[in-house]
Parts: sequence; structure tokens; C-alpha cells
Amino acid sequence: MLVGYQKTISMKTYILKRIAGLACAVALWAPALTHGDAPSTVNSGEALKLLQAGNQRYVDGKLNSITPEEMTQRRAELVQGQKPFAVVVCCSDSRVGPEIIFDQELGNIFVVRTAGQVLDAAGIGSIEYAVAHLGSPLVLVLGHEHCGAVAAAVADAKEPGHIAAIVKAIRLAVKRTQGLKGDPVENAVQANVQDIAARLRATGPILAAKVNAGSLKVTGATVSLSTGKVKLVPDGQE
Ligand SMILES: [Zn+2]
Repeated sequence: MLVGYQKTISMKTYILKRIAGLACAVALWAPALTHGDAPSTVNSGEALKLLQAGNQRYVDGKLNSITPEEMTQRRAELVQGQKPFAVVVCCSDSRVGPEIIFDQELGNIFVVRTAGQVLDAAGIGSIEYAVAHLGSPLVLVLGHEHCGAVAAAVADAKEPGHIAAIVKAIRLAVKRTQGLKGDPVENAVQANVQDIAARLRATGPILAAKVNAGSLKVTGATVSLSTGKVKLVPDGQE
């Protein structure tokens, strides 16, 4: 699966990665591994570093370029299967497309998107599929600045149709942050991320077992619309 996309990783580095200690290997390849599949041995910490390195390229306006030939080859490689190194759970907002803000190409991240990244059984099942069947070691729950879904919940808006279900799901985060210092929407964005991440960590039978076994990390982050910078959110109370 790695054929054809090793050009950003020298052979020497590649071999070293295989034989050296993990810490050493991460230092050598983490920033460079953006084209091609992550190795099957990637762990949650390494996966997070890959996302953070990609986000830094996005912030800096230095996205990796890919030729039409490389895209064609990559597409062909992926026909046989996928091994995304991370699951990104984020808002449907058109300004936070995860492949772009993490500068990742096809096959690298498994994405679940709804407004306010609110999850129902199908959403959780999608995450479980990526973790259990595709081996993703990291689930990143990503909220964002000026989230309309969260703003609607803060305003206690009476939304029509099924939009109401989204607003309702975010109310807990709004309640939890009422009266806190700072911007109420941004406070609720962060709390909503914490709530969703905590819920996923506690959801059995697949995710909770892997979190407890140390083979899966579920963490949260928010992204700034103005700078594009992704910041990790500390775990909330569980
Ligand atoms: Zn949003």
C-alpha cells in the first residue's frame, strides 16, 4: 500500500523507521509522512502528530502539492482498501473541511460530519467501523469557532424540522457553560467537544474497551476560522 508515495520519505529514513525505537522514528518521519498510507503500526500519539503537522502546513499556507499522476496512482492504490490513521468527527460547516485543514489526501482520514458534530447511533457506528475494522487508533472530535449549531443552542432557538434534534443535543454543553466568563458560544463549542469525546470514550462495546486497553485515544480540539489553527481541548469531567 505504500508503493509510489514514499518520495517524501527517503529509503534510509524508511528503513530506520522500521528498526529504530519508536520515539526516534516519530521524530524522523512524522512531519514528512503525508503522502500515502500511514504504516499499520501507527499509534494514537503518532496519528495526532500527523494531523497537527498537516494543520501547521494549512496555517502556514504551505499545503503539500500532488500531481495529477500521483492522484491517479493514489486512487488506484486505495481501490484495494483503506487504512485511515485517524477518525475526524467534525461539523458539516463548509469552512472546516478536515482533509483541507489537516492537509491530508485520500485514504488518510475517516470523516464523520454532522452539524455541531452531533452523533446519533449511525454516527457512532461509523466511528466504530473505522476503529474496529480499519484499525484507526485516534478519534479526534473537532469543534470550530462561530459554530452556527452551537450558537442556535446558546440562543435557545426554536428550529423547525429535524434541526431541532441537533440543537437539543448541544443543550447540555450550553447548560454546563452558562454563567462562565468569556464568549458563551465559544465556551459551549469547547464543552460540546468535551461532551462528545467523553461520551465516545465511555461508549461500549468497541470504543470503551479499546480506550481502556490503551489502543485508542479519543480527544477533542477546536479550529479557528480566522487562522485555521487547531487547538487541542483538555478532557472534561467524566
Ligand atoms: Zn459548526
